[in-house]
Amino acid sequence: MIKVIQGDITTLAVDAIVNAANQVMLGGGGVDGAIHRAAGPELYEACLKVPEVRPGVRCPTGEARITPGFNLPAKFVIHTVGPVYRDGQHGEPERLAACYRNSLALAAENGCKSIAFPCISTGIYGYPKEEAAKIAVRAVREFLAAKNAKDARMEVVFCCFSERDAAVYERLLS
Ligand code: ADP
Repeated sequence: MIKVIQGDITTLAVDAIVNAANQVMLGGGGVDGAIHRAAGPELYEACLKVPEVRPGVRCPTGEARITPGFNLPAKFVIHTVGPVYRDGQHGEPERLAACYRNSLALAAENGCKSIAFPCISTGIYGYPKEEAAKIAVRAVREFLAAKNAKDARMEVVFCCFSERDAAVYERLLS
């Protein structure tokens, strides 16, 4: 099931919220900062413990990592790193789709029945909103369609910070 809501992802009582993180995974601006503030300092400590795959990189672009949610109502935070948008011709669509796919797979592996996504890459990383939303919707639909009946029951929430973003998702899903 897919739902769209407008609001602050840090308030959602779902099994996992997804963080639009950066590769070093130690907090930042936008939704990342909001999640770290709401989860409390333990989230930073948990992120520090995620092993680096190379210096300064805990989570390469398109991949996902999981931590507890600490003070958040959500049980887990799934950290994923969206692509920085250049012109759409540098692998951005594939890497953005991979963020959604890998986050969903990690949620399923950890027994999550509900997950909420922010509009990954559409803030500081500059991905055009409409294009990003199309990729997000397609990736989630494909994941839910390909999974067995159990995972297909996962509730996926697109949590849009603005009314305008929510309207884009509502239209694409109708
Ligand atoms: P990125 O670096 O991946 O572009 P940003 O955090 O800058 O990440 O922006 C991603 C999206 O998250 C934007 O659409 C922004 O409006 C949204 N956002 C910012 N704060 C929140 C929040 N508290 N809850 C949900 N979405 C948020």
